[in-house]
Amino acid sequence: MIKYNLICKSCNLNFDSWFASSVEYEKLKKKNLLNCHNCNSLNVQKSLMAPRMISSSSSRSKQEIKKFKSVQNTIKEYQKFIKNNFEYVGKNFAYEARSIHYDKKKKEKGIYGTASKKDLKELKEEGIDAHLLPWVEDKSN
Ligand SMILES: [Zn+2]
Repeated sequence: MIKYNLICKSCNLNFDSWFASSVEYEKLKKKNLLNCHNCNSLNVQKSLMAPRMISSSSSRSKQEIKKFKSVQNTIKEYQKFIKNNFEYVGKNFAYEARSIHYDKKKKEKGIYGTASKKDLKELKEEGIDAHLLPWVEDKSN
């Protein structure tokens, strides 16, 4: 047996009712066999879920947000390191990577920039070591 708190949308009566199962409740509702004790209206609905369930799911999402933020901070630290130690070449990444590789062009720093998956695949085939990094756009800058 399961107890539901029901509410009548017509007269706002709030009442409890017992059902064999949640399936039985759905069945009665579909067949229009659920009616208000007070005004006989069929406009009867289950009232909101238990608050306990809502609070437990919100604390879980808080944890997820916390986790997300810590990962995001790690990536930001990572980006800071790269910005300080690598030269940004933007969309010229594949070109610059090749010029370093083939022309033995001297660069004080390593490079980072944007490249398509196709570029990365081609660079790899040419024996150029490029890595894909997770990146977060820093909108505060
Ligand atoms: Zn009613």
